[in-house]
Amino acid sequence: MVLSPLVPLEAPSPAHICPADQACSYLEAAARELHLDQGVLTILSNPRKVVTVSIPIKLDNGEVRVFAGHRVQHCDILGPYKGGTRYHPAVTLQEVSVLAMLMTWKCALLGIPYGGAKGGIALDPNRYSVNELERITRRYTSELIKDIGPSVDIPAPDVGTSAREMAWMMDTYSMNVGHAVPGVVTGKPISIGGSRGREMATGRGVMIVVREALAKQGRAIADSRIVIQGFGNVGSAAALLLHQAGAKILAVSRGSGGIFAADGLDILALKAYSAEHDKNLKGFPGSVPISNAELLALPCDVLIPAALENQITTDNVDQVKASIVAEAANGPVSLEADRALEARGVTVLPDILANAGGVVVSYLEWVQGLSYVFWDEERVNREMEGLIVHAFQQVMEQSQMRQVPIRLAAYMLGVGRVAQALIDRGLYP
Ligand code: NAD
Repeated sequence: MVLSPLVPLEAPSPAHICPADQACSYLEAAARELHLDQGVLTILSNPRKVVTVSIPIKLDNGEVRVFAGHRVQHCDILGPYKGGTRYHPAVTLQEVSVLAMLMTWKCALLGIPYGGAKGGIALDPNRYSVNELERITRRYTSELIKDIGPSVDIPAPDVGTSAREMAWMMDTYSMNVGHAVPGVVTGKPISIGGSRGREMATGRGVMIVVREALAKQGRAIADSRIVIQGFGNVGSAAALLLHQAGAKILAVSRGSGGIFAADGLDILALKAYSAEHDKNLKGFPGSVPISNAELLALPCDVLIPAALENQITTDNVDQVKASIVAEAANGPVSLEADRALEARGVTVLPDILANAGGVVVSYLEWVQGLSYVFWDEERVNREMEGLIVHAFQQVMEQSQMRQVPIRLAAYMLGVGRVAQALIDRGLYP
């Protein structure tokens, strides 16, 4: 047995008392507007539980490698924790903490009885075989066995994970407790209790908020030119639905680069092409290659960052030409860039609203699993659309009524609901 060096585990530190400047700035701004008590703000600034586990795995070549896996549970005042599981080389405890907090505000904004959590392992899933990924996922799940469960914490897919990983997590949890527990994860295959519509849900939510925002400007999807960074779960679903609604999708990209077509891309054909070409976009007939930097600077009506955090920053915000930026990814616009866009009158649809379609359908999947009654896709989409449109309208009303930016309005609604629940429940003991 060959032992490779341990991936250094990051111990939870006081630095995680407030996950990151950006997340805390938005929270603090909302708290100021809401005149929240300092004690309430301090509680909401802290994750309730931070877990880091060591995941030792035998690789296919016999070598043993140890990964660090995190799960941060921010707040369960309104209900069980809920949040994705990310496999990406840049995963850190800090990042997972920020994303867990975002989930708390997102669920509260959408009126879903969950609290925020997030998990992740720092690894590049493309560098491991399916068997290795299965062992990693199963060991990670069993290390977290006491911290997750259908009424405790319900993981879902995120960057680098999919229905496949959720099935492994569900099976591992079920084998440990001795019976099938479909409600322990969402975003799982339909064969084991997954919901119809879940795969496209986050992209569908993005399409709905873009449609509503365009309508507020007196425009329609069919007359719009759209650019999308990231062509994964979320980006490709949003691209397809917007394309089917008549938009011109001028450009899309992956980490390896993107493609541009002045007359718009045929997204259905592109999905098929990408599947046949090892996820590559380059070489798609009728398109020219484009870098990610060029893509973000393209003239368009709607720019949809659907990849990772911090893609629009002070370095490139001046080049953004879109009149609407829809944050399909979590935290793709930095704090300073957000202020610059706001000052220029660009409509920024914040992540906690724009990408909430996924958690809404996760919630609907959990509800179906608990009731053992499963709905058709039309019903799932209808229920989801109702919740997203309602939240969109509430955010716009709040923004107008309080004369605050859209993001701050969304935070005020999310944070305000959690704070009120905390005040009503009181502080134990
Ligand atoms: P994914 O792994 O399926 O896709 C990510 C895409 O981004 C890939 O196409 C990848 O090649 C691309 N990418 C990575 N780095 C890039 C770069 N520098 N430039 C351009 N493209 C790059 O992940 P996903 O599930 O689609 O998640 C994307 C974002 O949406 C993340 O921020 C995630 O947290 C957020 N989100 C996802 C869901 C969900 O249901 N999957 C729900 C809410 C929010």
